Amino acid sequence: MTHTHWLFGDQLGPSFLSPDEGGPDRDAPVVMIESRAVFRRRRFHRAKAHLILSAMRHRAAELGDRVTYVRADTYREGLRKAVGRGRVTVCHPTSRAALRLVRSLDRVTVLPPRGFLVRPEEFAAWAGGQRTLRMEAFYRQVRRDHDLLMEGDEPAGGTWNLDHENRRPPPRGARTLGVPAPHRPREDAVDEEVRRDLDRWERDGDVSFVGRDGPRSFPADRRGALAALRRFLSHRLAGFGAYEDAVLAGDGTMSHSLLSSSLNLGLLDPVECVEGAVAAWRAGDAPLNSVEGFVRQIAGWREYVWHLYWYFGEEYRASNALGHTASLPDWWDALDADAVSARCVATALRQVRDTGWTHHIPRLMVLGSYALQRGWDPAAVTDWFHRSFVDGYDWVMLPNVLGMSQYADGGRMTTKPYTSGGAYIDRMSDLCGPCPYRPDRRVGEDACPFTAGYWAFLHRNRAAFGRNARMSRAVRGLDRLPDLAALLEQERERQDVRGDSPP
Ligand code: FAD
Repeated sequence: MTHTHWLFGDQLGPSFLSPDEGGPDRDAPVVMIESRAVFRRRRFHRAKAHLILSAMRHRAAELGDRVTYVRADTYREGLRKAVGRGRVTVCHPTSRAALRLVRSLDRVTVLPPRGFLVRPEEFAAWAGGQRTLRMEAFYRQVRRDHDLLMEGDEPAGGTWNLDHENRRPPPRGARTLGVPAPHRPREDAVDEEVRRDLDRWERDGDVSFVGRDGPRSFPADRRGALAALRRFLSHRLAGFGAYEDAVLAGDGTMSHSLLSSSLNLGLLDPVECVEGAVAAWRAGDAPLNSVEGFVRQIAGWREYVWHLYWYFGEEYRASNALGHTASLPDWWDALDADAVSARCVATALRQVRDTGWTHHIPRLMVLGSYALQRGWDPAAVTDWFHRSFVDGYDWVMLPNVLGMSQYADGGRMTTKPYTSGGAYIDRMSDLCGPCPYRPDRRVGEDACPFTAGYWAFLHRNRAAFGRNARMSRAVRGLDRLPDLAALLEQERERQDVRGDSPP
């Protein structure tokens, strides 16, 4: 008997319907379920809700008569409506909650995951032989196993890691990097319908959103995603590496690929992304530092994060090594960038409000670092990132936010917390110039919230970080601060008197 194949909303590319390697039958009917309850549970960024619904409806239109597209309150209800007691297959979902659900339904067979280079058993075999699970070691193994950027047994160019070439501050005086703009999709009738539906849901009081919705900035179908990949490879990849960690107030996208939402919706496969980049290098169209940097992001970081999500188990979600419990302030939750004076926070928050995206460094060294220094509850911070970013899904958020950005796992993922004073932000961006706060000031009206926040954070965790080989020097630096007492008093007052008001 033919099984019906269920496509989740992040399984939208052709590989999820390919019969190869244990996929569904070629002619299997397909069901897609648009669950309203998903949007009721969390206050999502509206651009994210729009993108996901638009992408699902675009895929349904492509599949035509093959698909039954159900609008229902819950997945269970939708599945009952569409297939009754019929047998169903589904590719391994991307969250623990969805996996629990499909496993609890006796008529559903779960097929292997798609959309990643490394199979779960390969990761388990690698992890089993490691004392610590460091990304760099994993990435080298992936390069070898998948013959990626290799020359025989050696890494192309003779070195695995070109990070040292990829940490340049932005060019002095430049307002933009001057690279060609990324691909931007054109909205169509599907988007109009989605926008009407979202307006109606909000009017009915059924759901509420944050952020601005439109025009849609990220691809919602395979054609658009391929166009975005082609544009990146031919016009933007060459400049990807050098300024990967830099931030410019007037150039939010710089040379980044903006492919994360397409990859995470399943519209692009990581193999075609990395192979395209390697081909560009072999053709002499992009330098090795850029190509290696991009391959590292996708074949290294993305794969590593996916596997850690499953490897660390359900209890990882509750990690809170630093005992942080403060709740997120309303202005942050509402993405109220206009309430913020600190230029780095305002700029990052504004970009998130307007597009649901900002690149890695504003996520890590501005937004994440601010939350970490103030001791916000890491689970609430994770939920905020999940709701506010167009590319946010449970699997990618948990390791990135809990582990990498909030150090809530106590160092299982990173060797030290990613946080800094204002000097780092000043060196790597043009954000500090007109800011009312000064990166070199720890105390006083114009003390930079990151500089003061960094020292207060170190002081609070002096005992834990004093034993960390990569942090102990910084901790010893506390004893050399002549104004530490004043700084701590100022930070206490900021917290007590101004509460969680924006910096
Ligand atoms: P590029 O800079 O062009 O990188 C290329 C690709 O590499 C990305 O598209 C992405 O698929 C992959 N990649 C790079 N780093 C990571 C990483 N750490 N984890 C997973 N994939 C990675 N990425 C998400 O896809 N979804 C998220 O919800 C997400 N949340 C993050 C939260 C925090 C606090 C931090 C520090 C990072 C987060 N990232 C997340 C990782 C990274 O910031 C984004 O993937 C990237 O900024 C997306 O923009 P881009 O496509 O232009 O990436």
